[in-house]
Amino acid sequence: MIDDGWKGKALHELSPEAWESLCDGCAKCCLHKIEDEDTGEILFTSVACRLLDIDRCRCTDYANRSERVPECLQIRDALDHPQWLPSTCGYRLVAEGQDLPDWHPLIAGRADAVHRAGISIRSFAISEEQVGCVEEHVIEWLR
Ligand code: SF4
Ligand code: SF4
Repeated sequence: MIDDGWKGKALHELSPEAWESLCDGCAKCCLHKIEDEDTGEILFTSVACRLLDIDRCRCTDYANRSERVPECLQIRDALDHPQWLPSTCGYRLVAEGQDLPDWHPLIAGRADAVHRAGISIRSFAISEEQVGCVEEHVIEWLR
């Protein structure tokens, strides 16, 4: 059964379970980003945080992420600056009053839907530990 505990609600009204379920598991928020000094535009790169398990798109030390990676994006804070989140992010979509896409696990009914649809970073990300210059890995989202 589709969990629709998020429907028709503002993000601050969600239960902790409904809040967690909005994450589609894409791990795009764990990619390094660069801010263009001239335009203020946020550019995403294919370089993933060193704590990310790229194949599973999961943080390997979620409980201690803030201590280990001080620049780790806090989603509630990031929502004040939506451009720091990808346009497909479930939190951003709901905050902007949009519907979740059909590949979102809550709609598709399966956790791996985000990978099958090619939305997650699993197929292209590289760990920051393998990269010299992050600026050389800027990407453009197709969706
Ligand atoms: S970008 Fe949004 S939906 Fe994707 S993993 Fe991060 S918080 Fe979850
Ligand atoms: S610390 Fe964990 S949650 Fe934060 S960016 Fe790195 S992998 Fe993602």
